[in-house]
Amino acid sequence: MAIPPDEVARRDALFHQFRFVLVETSHPGNVGAAARAIKTMGFGQLVLAAPRLGSDVLQHPEAIALASGADDVLAATRIEPDLPAALTGVNWAVALSARTREYGPPSAVPRESAALACRHAVRGQQIAFVFGSERAGLPNEAVELCNALVHIPANPAYASLNLSQAVQVIAYEARLACLAEQPSLSGYEPPPGELLASRDEIEGMFAHLESALVALDFLDPANPKRLMTRLRRLFARSGLEHEEVNILRGIAKHILQRQPRK
Ligand code: SAH
Repeated sequence: MAIPPDEVARRDALFHQFRFVLVETSHPGNVGAAARAIKTMGFGQLVLAAPRLGSDVLQHPEAIALASGADDVLAATRIEPDLPAALTGVNWAVALSARTREYGPPSAVPRESAALACRHAVRGQQIAFVFGSERAGLPNEAVELCNALVHIPANPAYASLNLSQAVQVIAYEARLACLAEQPSLSGYEPPPGELLASRDEIEGMFAHLESALVALDFLDPANPKRLMTRLRRLFARSGLEHEEVNILRGIAKHILQRQPRK
C-alpha cells in the first residue's frame, strides 16, 4: 500500500531534525561516503566542524566520487568553526566513540540511543550525532558537550570502524527507530512546556553555574578536579528542559549577586 503524501511529508520533516556532525575530519573520501550513508537512510543534514581541509573538502574529487548520488547532500554540507557552533539549535546530542570512557554522559548501544533520539525528535527536538576524527576520535571536551555516549559494540580486539561506516550504522538505526515511530506521527501534538533546552542554552548555564560555584569557594579554579564533568554527567542524564535551565541560571545569578567579588 502506498504511503499517503502527508505521511511522507511528516516523515521527511522528522528526518530533517537529525544532523550528522563530523569533527575535524581529515579524509575527503569519508565526507563523501558519510553524505551517501545518510542520504541512503533518508537523512540530509551533514555538518563539518573544523574539517582539516576547510571548505575545500566539499569540492575534493574523492569526496565527490564517494558521495556518488548524494552529491546534493555533499553540496549542502555546512562547515562550522567548532563543535559548539555545529550544535547550535540542537536539543539532544549523541557522541559516537570507538573507545569506552570512564567519565562522560550515560552510554548506550546504537539501537537504544537511536530509539530515544527519535522519541525526542517526534516531540520536535533537534538531534545531532557527533563523530570524531579518523586519527584521534572525539576529545573528552567534545563528548562532554553531548547528552549521551554511544559505542558500537564491535569486535573488542578491533572496535574502530571507518568513520563513514560508523555513520552508516547509526543512520540505519536512526532510520529504523524513526520508521517504528511512524504510526504515532499522525495527529501528534508535542506536549506544551516540556521541551528540552538547546545545547547553547545548556552551555550558557554551565558557564554561569561554574562562576557561581567559584564564588561560593566550592570550586577551586586552580584545582577543579572533576566537578564540572560530574555535574555535566548528572545533567546529561536528566535531559534538561528549557524552564529548568532558566531556574538553574536564576540560582547561579542569585549566588553571584550575594557574593562579594574576589
Ligand atoms: N582512532 C580513533 C578512532 C577514530 S574512528 C579513536 O581511537 O578513537 C572515527 C570515528 O568513528 C570515531 O571518533 C567515532 O565517532 C566513530 N567510530 C568508529 N568506531 C566506532 C565504534 N565502535 N563505536 C562508536 N563510534 C565509532
